[in-house]
Amino acid sequence: MNRELDKKLEQTIWVARSLFQRGKTAGSTANISFRHEGCIYISGSGTCFGTLQKEEFAVMDPEGKHIKGPKPSKEFPLHKLLYDKKEARAVIHTHSFYATLWSCLAHESTEDVIPDYTPYLRMKVGRIGMVPYGEPGSRELFTLFEKCIPNSDGYLLQNHGPVIWGKDVMSAFYGIEELEESAKIAWHLQVQLQHTAKKADNIQGKHLLK
Ligand SMILES: [Zn+2]
Repeated sequence: MNRELDKKLEQTIWVARSLFQRGKTAGSTANISFRHEGCIYISGSGTCFGTLQKEEFAVMDPEGKHIKGPKPSKEFPLHKLLYDKKEARAVIHTHSFYATLWSCLAHESTEDVIPDYTPYLRMKVGRIGMVPYGEPGSRELFTLFEKCIPNSDGYLLQNHGPVIWGKDVMSAFYGIEELEESAKIAWHLQVQLQHTAKKADNIQGKHLLK
């Protein structure tokens, strides 16, 4: 195996394991891919981020045809679209808790759905768009996703989870980490703000009763 490919596989496996061990994904729901010499290497269907091995990557040619290895993840077309439409060299999709939680809420803008309470998500990724719901692995989802690609830099699949790309696997990893942390901050701040507003309402209510 060539040295560069070997290094990319090792790094990708490290990223997958790190996400799994810290509870950023569970079971066999996530998928990860990178580009090497024109081909796309993607984690195989049903693989687990916690135990991913080098031989569990499917190798796809630039047109998306399966060349060797196991069957690719059924979300491969999401990855392929990012390689075709953006300058992606790696793609990660997970069902991380807070990003998924945030994907279940309705948002005013569909092209920039994570509020920037801290500057880092915008620095690392940019704007996060919401892709309307389509059944996982369906043609409908891939069509909806394709339509949203030009409008944002990273994506949340509605009621499903995040998809982030990068110039290499580490930058995709930093991006998906930042997205998860930003969704977590947004969620907790929203709960806090609602709580504070409720308390304020009560105080105001008491005042009016006097
Ligand atoms: Zn998924």
